[in-house]
Amino acid sequence: MKQKRAYKYRFYPTDEQKQILARTFGCARFAYNWGLRLRTDAYYQEHKRVSYADTSTALTELKRQPEYVWLNEVSSVPPQQALRHLDRAFRNFFEGRANYPTFKKRHGIQSAEYTASAFKWDGKQLTLAKMDEPLDIIWSRPLPKGCKPTTVTITKDTANRYFVCILVEEEIKSLPVLNKQVGLDLGLKSMVILSTGETIGNPKYFLKDEKKLAKAQRRLAKKQKGSKNRAKARLKVARLHAKIADRRRDYQQKLSTRIIRENQVVCIESLSVKNMVKNRKLAKAISDVGWGEFVRQLEYKANWYGRMLIKIDMFYPSSKRCHSCGHVLDSLSLDERFWMCPQCHTFHDRDMNAAKNVLAAGLAVAACGEAVRPGRAKALSGKPQ
Ligand SMILES: [Zn+2]
Repeated sequence: MKQKRAYKYRFYPTDEQKQILARTFGCARFAYNWGLRLRTDAYYQEHKRVSYADTSTALTELKRQPEYVWLNEVSSVPPQQALRHLDRAFRNFFEGRANYPTFKKRHGIQSAEYTASAFKWDGKQLTLAKMDEPLDIIWSRPLPKGCKPTTVTITKDTANRYFVCILVEEEIKSLPVLNKQVGLDLGLKSMVILSTGETIGNPKYFLKDEKKLAKAQRRLAKKQKGSKNRAKARLKVARLHAKIADRRRDYQQKLSTRIIRENQVVCIESLSVKNMVKNRKLAKAISDVGWGEFVRQLEYKANWYGRMLIKIDMFYPSSKRCHSCGHVLDSLSLDERFWMCPQCHTFHDRDMNAAKNVLAAGLAVAACGEAVRPGRAKALSGKPQ
């Protein structure tokens, strides 16, 4: 079966390409924000739902007006794609998966998406619409031979680095079936705890970078607004942020690949469950580890390699439940790393017990046949805290 896979590379635009891209980012952002305003006004003033097709027609109309001719200076595809993204954001909102869409900012990460009609790929080089020269891409790994890119996304991050993400369809072979299953939980002290008893990751790994970042942020705060030094200090902060994000992503990629390779069934709690635990300490651990991104990686890799990812979407007292006898404690504070079950007297490591419960809950879901589609399972039981 063919699967979609994204390949991301850094590239170095020429000055001319930088200018074209800056205009394109601007037009795509404009289309998104303009569409958002249109849909919001229609809803609040007339209780009308506006579709993607409506916004697309209205944008074509808008481009004919003299004060908006500048929209025609760039490829028409990225602004159209921005309207599609907006439509997806609204769908996510209406279906309860996301908050109401917000306006895109000039200072955030910029992006522009090109579909096949707006770029040229000759098997070696990639040229975008309205550009004469191909992009100077650093091919850190090869694209699969003979592939046909379907979508190309250009991003510029806050550290002023340019990336191209090439989406291709390729044959990914399933891995041989294993008789191994694992439950994962997020710990406070270590990043990820496996139900096998293994703990992975050490938050100290990122500590040095974070200290540097804190120092740079303090320096930035002292600089005068609008000064050249402030702009320099801001770029330094952005670069450190980018470096930390890169290392974290790299780390997560390796870990998610390993877990999917080594196990046939992987059980986890979804991010929404994690977010239910309103605790500052845990909230920081979640954002540091990037649980949502980690779950996303496990999900698509499970799809690629024929593994099963079971996400537990409902609250389940994974930490407070004794995995040996099922007894549920009334309370367990976050500082309690170990506890003794009052019923069966089993001594528990808090995190490992939780990971074992996650595995048990996930397998119960799978056994009841609810997990027909991997990644969409819901836990059956569980007392809310
Ligand atoms: Zn017990």
